[in-house]
Amino acid sequence: MSARVGVGGIFIECNHFTAQFADRAAFERSEWLAGDALLAKDTGVIGGMLSVLRDAGCEPVPLFYASACPSGAVEAEAFDELKNELLECLADAGELGGVLLCLHGAGAAVNAPDLEGDLAGAVRDKAGEAMPIVCTLDLHAHVTFEMLEHMDALLAWETYPHEDAFETGERGARALIEILAGRLKPVMAMAKVPVLVSAIHGQTKPPGPFADVMQEAKRLEGERSLFSVNPILVHPYLNMPNMGGGVLVVTNDDESGAVSLAKRLAKRYWDKRVELQPETISPSDAVRRGKLVEDGPVLLVETADCCGGGATGDSVHTLRTLLSEAPEQSAIVPVVDPAAAQEAHSAGLGQVIRLRLGHQLDPQWGQPVKVEGVVTRLSDGAFIYRGGIWDGRAGDMGRTAVVAVGPIQIVISSNATYDWMTEQYDLLDLSPADFKYVVAKNPMNYQQAYAGVMKAAYVLDTPGPTPANTNALPYTAMSSGWFPAEPEHNIAEPEVLVSRRRNLRTTP
Ligand SMILES: [Zn+2]
Repeated sequence: MSARVGVGGIFIECNHFTAQFADRAAFERSEWLAGDALLAKDTGVIGGMLSVLRDAGCEPVPLFYASACPSGAVEAEAFDELKNELLECLADAGELGGVLLCLHGAGAAVNAPDLEGDLAGAVRDKAGEAMPIVCTLDLHAHVTFEMLEHMDALLAWETYPHEDAFETGERGARALIEILAGRLKPVMAMAKVPVLVSAIHGQTKPPGPFADVMQEAKRLEGERSLFSVNPILVHPYLNMPNMGGGVLVVTNDDESGAVSLAKRLAKRYWDKRVELQPETISPSDAVRRGKLVEDGPVLLVETADCCGGGATGDSVHTLRTLLSEAPEQSAIVPVVDPAAAQEAHSAGLGQVIRLRLGHQLDPQWGQPVKVEGVVTRLSDGAFIYRGGIWDGRAGDMGRTAVVAVGPIQIVISSNATYDWMTEQYDLLDLSPADFKYVVAKNPMNYQQAYAGVMKAAYVLDTPGPTPANTNALPYTAMSSGWFPAEPEHNIAEPEVLVSRRRNLRTTP
C-alpha cells in the first residue's frame, strides 16, 4: 500500500481543580515535534504508528505532535498555537490517504473544555468527510460525542500502569490500513455509566474490578472478531458534563452489535463501582501503622497531589505529619516549589537554610510548612524515563535540591513531572529502599516502582486536586447523579454514543 498518511497530535491530561495552567513552555519542555524530529520518534504511540506504516509500505507524513506533563487546562493562547500548528501542517501536507492522531482524551483548554472534541472537529473540517481519521486515546479518556462524531475509529490503551503506548500506536495504524484497504468500515459505540472514581483500583492486571472488565472485553474481542473493545476508566478530575467510564467498541459495519456489546460491558463496569472505590486513611494513622511495620520502606501514597493527574505536586500535608510525628525516621518526600529550589541553589551545598515550603503554586489545598534543613544535593533536574508512555523521553524537574531535615530528605523540584519508576530519585542518588517512609504522589505507579521493595503502602486522605475519593471535589457540571456522590444512585441503562458513518476514501 502506497498511501501517504499524516501523523500528529496534541497529548495532555488536564485537571479542572488545580490552579496551574499549561502554557506553551510546558509543551516545549516536553515534546514539540514536527518534520524529521517527528519522523525520528521510535517510542510511544507515535513510534508505534510510524513503525506499522513503514512496514506496510505507506509513507508517514509528519504533521505536528506536542505533549506535556499533566496539569490544569491549556491556556487559550497556547491551545490556539498548538491547534494552528497542527492544522497548518495538515494544510501543507499535500494529498493524504488518511490521518493518524495521538490524543489523550482528557485534555482541556480554557477556550475548548473538550480539547480533543474541538481538535477532532477542526481536523475533520480541514481534511474533509472522505478522509479516514483514526485516533488513539488513553484509557483514562473522557470520551465525548464530538470525538465519535468527527473520528472514524478511536482505540485506547489497554494497560494500566500504562505500558502499551507503542502497541496502541501500532493498533491505530493497523486500523487505518484496514480502512484504506476497504476491509474495515468502522462503526463505534461508547456506552457510559456515571462512575467517577480515582485510578487506585484501576489496574489492568488481574485481580481487580477494572481488570475484570478488561479481561472480559479482550475475551469477547477475540471470540467475535470485533475490531476493538476498550474499557475506559475516565480521568475523574475534569469538571465536565456527562462524565463517566464505560466501554468503547469499534465494529466492522455492525452498529447494533457495537451498541449492544458496549452496553453490556458498561453494565458490568457499573456493577463493579463499589469495588472501584478506594479506602483511605489519614497521614497520622498511616505513620502510626508504619511504625509497627518492621523495616521499610513504608509507602505513604499522597495521591491527592499527583503530578501525573494534573496536580502541582506542592502539597506538604504528609511532610508536615512526618516532621511532627516521626522526625527521627528516615523519609523521602517530593515537593514541587520553584522558589524554594532556587533558594537552596543560591545557598549552596552543605548550607543550612530556612524555607517556607509548599502550597505556593496551588494555595487552595493547604498552608506552607516552615522547615530548617541542610542542602544535601543540587541538580539541574534533567533525567530520562525508562519505560511507560514516556519511554526514552527526557523528563525535566528543573532546578532541583534535596534539603535534609534530620533524616527526612525533601526533594524540592521546580517543575511537576510524571512518576513512572524512580527516575527522579535515581538522578539524585537517593535509594528509596534505604528509607523507612517514602511519599509517593501517584495512585498506581508506586505499585510497580516499589514492587518487591515496599513493606506496606497506605493510601492517604489529604486535600488536593487528585484525591483518592472524588467526593472531596466540587463538581458543578454534571447534570444528574453519579457514584460515589450518591452511593444509592441507580441507572436504567448505560448511555450510548454512536459514531457517524462516512463514505471513506480507500487507497488501492
Ligand atoms: Zn492514563
